[in-house]
Amino acid sequence: AKEFNCSRPQIFEAGMDTQAVQRWHLETDLRLGLEQKEFQLYYQPIISLTTGNIAGFEALVRWNSKTRGFVSPGDFIPVAEETGLIVPLGEWILTEACRQIRAWHERFPRNPALIMSVNLSGRQFSQPNLVKQIQTILDVAGIEGDRLKLEITESMIMNNVEEAISLLNRLKGLGLRLSIDDFGTGYSSLSYLHRFPVDTLKVDKSFVGRMEDGKDSHKYIQIVRTIISLGHNLDLDVIAEGIETEGQMNILESLRCKYGQGYLFSRPLSSENAEALLAEDNPI
Ligand code: C2E
Ligand code: CA
Ligand code: CA
Ligand code: CA
Repeated sequence: AKEFNCSRPQIFEAGMDTQAVQRWHLETDLRLGLEQKEFQLYYQPIISLTTGNIAGFEALVRWNSKTRGFVSPGDFIPVAEETGLIVPLGEWILTEACRQIRAWHERFPRNPALIMSVNLSGRQFSQPNLVKQIQTILDVAGIEGDRLKLEITESMIMNNVEEAISLLNRLKGLGLRLSIDDFGTGYSSLSYLHRFPVDTLKVDKSFVGRMEDGKDSHKYIQIVRTIISLGHNLDLDVIAEGIETEGQMNILESLRCKYGQGYLFSRPLSSENAEALLAEDNPI
């Protein structure tokens, strides 16, 4: 669809600012943004709650658009997903995240546990050549598969359980680690969970954020407790996301949650700032 790369046709501007038109503009800008390399990865540390050290990072895409300024992934990822632009964008994200983890490994060889988590979208998950594409990306970056962890959601799996399990097994065959993101918010998959070849559950931040106050806080603590013990009983690592306060961290520690992520420790950081944090964490 190269012909859409021109500037916006003015004919749509007068009084037609409907949702569909806005969306179409966003698509045009996304397409342009991809060509102009307006995307960047930020990295949020994942912390071992037992040692306090950095166990890895989650790569989070950022878009600084020439026409729109900063656009939140919550706003453009769904459009990228619907339009299929997530496929080239997702390929770039995987490539860049793997290049970065390789560079950090070379710089900090004494932190062998450093893992890069990358969010996968539903559309990427159903690309027939996904496994091959990731194999190529790993080869080009020169890293082993176990440095890369893919974050997927329950709904991506539940869409077509048997096919998804077979794909997950092929991804495991590359040595990758797999994580279920936003666990507990998707459609229930408890009866299947033991069949998913995953390594990690991420407790959704909406649960973590409600553990401390509000009249139902004790119920949220029980929900989080249940997810953590479910994970551990299935031999999975559990990461609590969206930790913003010491109080939340203390509750999670008392529930024996091993990993945490959230503003309390660090916001998502530029590559330079993430590297500086790693340097502090890995004294020579
Ligand atoms: P997610 O995968 O659940 O990512 C976690 C989101 O929570 C991130 O928002 C992160 O910045 C934010 N966060 C981290 N710590 C805290 C905290 O303590 N409190 C609160 N309130 N939020 C916290 P972000 O970067 O805006 O991304 C939003 C969503 O967009 C992500 O949710 C993910 O679904 C999607 N996304 C982001 N980057 C990518 C990407 O590279 N690829 C794909 N497919 N999706 C992405
Ligand atoms: Ca995620
Ligand atoms: Ca999440
Ligand atoms: Ca999410």
